[in-house]
Amino acid sequence: MAEGKAMMVSASKRWSLSPTVRISMGLVSMLLGLLMILDLALKILPDKRAMTMEVREQVAVHLAVQVRRTLNENQDASHLQAVLTELVEQSGDITSLAVRRDSGNLFAASPQHEKTWEPPPLGASTLNAVVVPLHAGDKRWGQLEVGFRSPWPSSLMGWLNNPTVQLVISLSTASFIAFYLYLRRVLQHLDPSKAIPERVRIAFDTLTEGLLVLDIDGQILMANSAFRGFHPQAGGVLLGRGITQLDWLIKGLKEVDAQYPWERALTTTEPILGVQVDLTHEGGESRRALLNCAAVRDAAGNARGCLVTLDDVTELDMANNRLRSALAELELSRDKIQKQNEELQLLANCDPMTGCFNRRAFFARAEPMLVHAQKTGEPLSCFMTDIDKFKSFNDTYGHAVGDLVIQQVARILKAAMRPEDVLCRFGGEEFCAFMPGMDEKAAAELADRIRDTLQREAGPAVDAVPNLRITSSFGVAQFGKGNANTALLLIERADQGLYLAKEAGRNQVQCVDWHPEKADAAAAH
Ligand code: GH3
Ligand code: MG
Ligand code: MG
Repeated sequence: MAEGKAMMVSASKRWSLSPTVRISMGLVSMLLGLLMILDLALKILPDKRAMTMEVREQVAVHLAVQVRRTLNENQDASHLQAVLTELVEQSGDITSLAVRRDSGNLFAASPQHEKTWEPPPLGASTLNAVVVPLHAGDKRWGQLEVGFRSPWPSSLMGWLNNPTVQLVISLSTASFIAFYLYLRRVLQHLDPSKAIPERVRIAFDTLTEGLLVLDIDGQILMANSAFRGFHPQAGGVLLGRGITQLDWLIKGLKEVDAQYPWERALTTTEPILGVQVDLTHEGGESRRALLNCAAVRDAAGNARGCLVTLDDVTELDMANNRLRSALAELELSRDKIQKQNEELQLLANCDPMTGCFNRRAFFARAEPMLVHAQKTGEPLSCFMTDIDKFKSFNDTYGHAVGDLVIQQVARILKAAMRPEDVLCRFGGEEFCAFMPGMDEKAAAELADRIRDTLQREAGPAVDAVPNLRITSSFGVAQFGKGNANTALLLIERADQGLYLAKEAGRNQVQCVDWHPEKADAAAAH
């Protein structure tokens, strides 16, 4: 996180100098300028040229005295030449020496003098060529010519060793550091890039959203009054503090990943919106806010700081919660209504005692089956069943046991039905079923299987009366056979079968249009 921030900072600072650096550089330039003006007026810096000239003239005068003495002792030119050559060799600064007669002829000279000597203009000495007149008595006899090395350095290192240059460099560096450190401290709150105009502050204070202006390092430059009112600890000194020092805010941040939202805003072009903050404080109610961050960029697009806003959504959140619970309640009551509707539907469609369809619901479902069978030619069969000697259960054990008998028979009938079949309680202890896709033979076989199950299971299932024997008779018919061309006629034909079954001794299946024995006989032929 800190690394990312450091990279960000260095990237943005690479392009432009901070105002503190620029002001410091200006002050250093002013200081140097002042020094130069003072030096011009008061000569406070040592004048190397004048000092060197003075020294060189004195050296030349001393040499002239020495030359005159040598000539007084020995007039020989070669002797003087040897003396001059030795003097040049011993001196580091002197390049050549010569004695010239007034006529212009050289009397004696060190080697190289003729080549290197540049006579000073108008006979006045220069830094590199000093001339001292020689007299014999009152008369001028000639002159001593002294060639000096240039006093000015020829390399950069030479210049850097120059005391004046060293003074300027060290003064500039030291004053720059001093100015920079001082200004940085003094301008902490007055840095032009960080200062926020008063009118902007006033405008920010009118906002109901809490607002913070951060610099690139996350230091708070401004906090509006709404922000200071956000939390009891938000009212203290905020200016100059890092936003991460606001514990109450940092603790409230819901999700903090590798970077804080304001740091992320500085690295992306998109603003960071809707970060949830739960603000709590001892003895006070907690509040919920949404935090938004957007980078403030300069004309070049470099991030200069960040705007952080805090939007109090406590009320909204509470209203949302109320709405949510109202919605949940609504959903609950909707489920309840749906359930009641289903119950009503069940009551409207089913017989409450057995759960089988009533006649109305049965015919509503039977009709489409007939239409389908007519259209496709697929078979459709029906059975009617009636509990044998049912009246005797009522008479012997009472009506309640009679009801239990009907319920047990209905249970077994329902269990034997396929999902596509429809079963109906047709009357007291009579049931009717339509079975699509089944011909009379299959329907009769099914009815017989049910009959068998009933006689075995229905009686023992009635706990109230031990060893009860319950049987039922069945009549079966197929749609389209005989005159069974409507639902009612099909039921009537099945009822005819039922009548036959009762007649034939009960507990059996009869079909008006199909007999197993006849079918077996037909198969035998
Ligand atoms: P069979 O074998 O010829 O059908 O004889 P059965 O006694 O079953 O014939 P019947 O139709 O005469 O008797 C039916 C009786 O069922 C008449 C009626 O009192 C009784 N019953 C009709 N509905 C109910 C009911 O919901 N509960 C009870 N307990 N009895 C009913
Ligand atoms: Mg009956
Ligand atoms: Mg009966």
